[in-house]
Amino acid sequence: LRMMSAAPLGNEPVSDEELRPHVLAGFIGQPTLKAQLQLFLDAARKRDVPPDHILLAGPPGLGKTTLAMIVANELGVPIRVTSGPAIQHAGDLASILSSLDAGEVLFIDEIHRLPRAAEELLYIAMEDFRVDVMVGKGPGASSIPLTLPRFTVIGATTREGMLPSPLRARFGFTAHLDFYPADELRKLIERSAAVLGLELEQGASQQLSLRSRGTPRIANRLLRRVRDWAIVHDLPQVRADDVCEALALYQIDTEGLDRLDIAVLTAIVKQFNGGPVGLNNLSAMVGEEAETVETVCEPYLVREGFLIRTPKGRVATQKAWQHLGLTMPDAQDA
Ligand code: ATP
Repeated sequence: LRMMSAAPLGNEPVSDEELRPHVLAGFIGQPTLKAQLQLFLDAARKRDVPPDHILLAGPPGLGKTTLAMIVANELGVPIRVTSGPAIQHAGDLASILSSLDAGEVLFIDEIHRLPRAAEELLYIAMEDFRVDVMVGKGPGASSIPLTLPRFTVIGATTREGMLPSPLRARFGFTAHLDFYPADELRKLIERSAAVLGLELEQGASQQLSLRSRGTPRIANRLLRRVRDWAIVHDLPQVRADDVCEALALYQIDTEGLDRLDIAVLTAIVKQFNGGPVGLNNLSAMVGEEAETVETVCEPYLVREGFLIRTPKGRVATQKAWQHLGLTMPDAQDA
């Protein structure tokens, strides 16, 4: 394997961190979002105030965390990272908020999973830069208002619709991340390959881009598996065929669908004769949580035309039947 970096062959795996771009210019794809965010940050810098709060919405693995870190880095401010499930009581959030420095970015991943009381505390803090700290317990308890310095919340969510509207309204800018087209993923893969010191032929990066489910995190993960393959087989350069062979071993199919995607489509087609089937039935059938099926699996299947959502439930399309090597019954033709 020819290494393009100084690191010796197969040394310490390069972490996610090392594949993360640190400036907006290094963030690949999503041109509209990038232009909007650039303007938003430039304006804040010119006015010399922390920018408004930012909400990043979209399926997992599309770069929400990466963008949050880029924003903090571009503003030259520290970033504090937490998540909805990590905050169990409003008090946990109050103590984070009351320790923030002026201008700091507070990143809250899975913000739709904050407990209700914390949500309420958050939107007051976001609006008025104030937090009410409870002192004491029971009838003698009292709340002391504490003024906070201006800071910026960046919320990330896979379920924008689950955010209560008062909270949603506190964000001055909402960015919707969408699946990446293959040509953008290809650039991303080539950049990551260079970081990993892996040499890919053109066809190889193309194959990888087609099988990455429109998702940077998956692209980087598959790239690492291909690198394993190249190391084990002593390949100086990775060709398209190597990618296909390596990914076949990991059961990544030609459309980039993974095991859960295939399980979902198979269940709809085989157990429910193509649908419609409700989310809960479907999730039970594949042994996954409804939220996972809905937020991880379905957006891509819908976008690629394998599945449609109807008021009566999920329906497999002709493309899904075909992909599973089955013929769709005529009666269901739409
Ligand atoms: P989650 O919603 O689960 O937190 P995420 O959307 O925050 O996921 P990230 O962790 O930001 O996803 O990104 C996953 C990986 O993909 C990171 O290693 C990052 O380096 C890479 N990545 C994501 N988007 C881009 C991009 N546009 N350009 C370059 N690399 C990217």
